[in-house]
Amino acid sequence: MSTLIANIGELVTNDPDGTGLGIVRDAALVIEDGEIAWTGPAAKAPAADAAFDAGGRAVLPGFVDSHAHLVFAGERAEEFAARMSGRPYAAGGIRTTVERTRAASDDDLRANLRRLIGEMARQGTTTVECKSGYGLTVEQEERAVRIAAELADEVTYLGAHVVPAEYQDDAAAYTRLAATDMLAACAPHARWVDVFCEEGAFDADQAREVLQAGIKAGLAPRLHANQLTQGPAVQLAVELDAASADHCTFLSDADIDALASSQTVATLLPGVEFSTRQPYPDARRLLDAGATVALATDCNPGSCYSSSMAFCVAVAVRDMHMTPAEAVWSATAGGARALRRSDVGHLTPGARADVHVLDAPSHIHLAYRPGVPQTHAVWKAGVQVR
Ligand SMILES: [Zn+2]
Repeated sequence: MSTLIANIGELVTNDPDGTGLGIVRDAALVIEDGEIAWTGPAAKAPAADAAFDAGGRAVLPGFVDSHAHLVFAGERAEEFAARMSGRPYAAGGIRTTVERTRAASDDDLRANLRRLIGEMARQGTTTVECKSGYGLTVEQEERAVRIAAELADEVTYLGAHVVPAEYQDDAAAYTRLAATDMLAACAPHARWVDVFCEEGAFDADQAREVLQAGIKAGLAPRLHANQLTQGPAVQLAVELDAASADHCTFLSDADIDALASSQTVATLLPGVEFSTRQPYPDARRLLDAGATVALATDCNPGSCYSSSMAFCVAVAVRDMHMTPAEAVWSATAGGARALRRSDVGHLTPGARADVHVLDAPSHIHLAYRPGVPQTHAVWKAGVQVR
């Protein structure tokens, strides 16, 4: 069964062999067996079993959201309202969600995760990374990664998210648990190990202990780095060849140099700065230094409860001075790099058929028309999901 998507006004291929968005105008593409089988000028399109008329719209690779916390219960709207009235964000707010999550049933967690991944798909997101981190016991963290693995494309063990209340006075003991029994229970369900390395969460030595244990257990590292302070986490991410250092809000010149001369992607999460009213990361400095930049939502009930990659693109352009082309690349191909995936984030033959038809003639409209729903149709692995 093959499907021809015809009459594409602007096809964003992100061709890995080219530069930038690899745009083809007046284009077509063919999906077959869940993959992109052909792309090129509409006039040369081959025949297919079925056809979809894109009506001159823009077609992009599905968004790759490489950072989200989606296994949780409850929400924190009151905390958000209080913060907008002047109270600053502190890492401890996570514990509120931990209490609600521990009390929830498997089915409730699963239903909430399914709801959020569906919400993302309807907005053009076709690859989702999902972290644990609201259980913080061996049983609860194992449950979180196991449920995440049922529905998310990429699963990350984040037992070292925050020190839970019952270990308040013994962070070293909790770190040891996260690096031993908890890790052993979670590793079979996860590909990644992550640590929130920050004042109020885990310091560099504690983060290193958990990440190195994770690497020994067969997981690959990624890091919550330099969100609230100019700490040591970016340097640790580069030292461990982490796939990504996420947040990167407070960076020294040495941090930027380290990222630029490494394979570690700088994943920026502008929805967090928006929702916590913090300064935005300096995307321009990173890009001009030659670092690879990804954009992701960090969708979670505390610091950013938005699942919209289009919103991240708009903020990155408006407030972080990325060009529309840079922001769209970072939200698709950049996210794929941050997950070390070569099959998503681009639309060239052999890629997974993750296709996002915008109800707009150009990718620029994602930033030009902020807040407007612009997803017309979506295929994930060749299956139309919207
Ligand atoms: Zn996060």
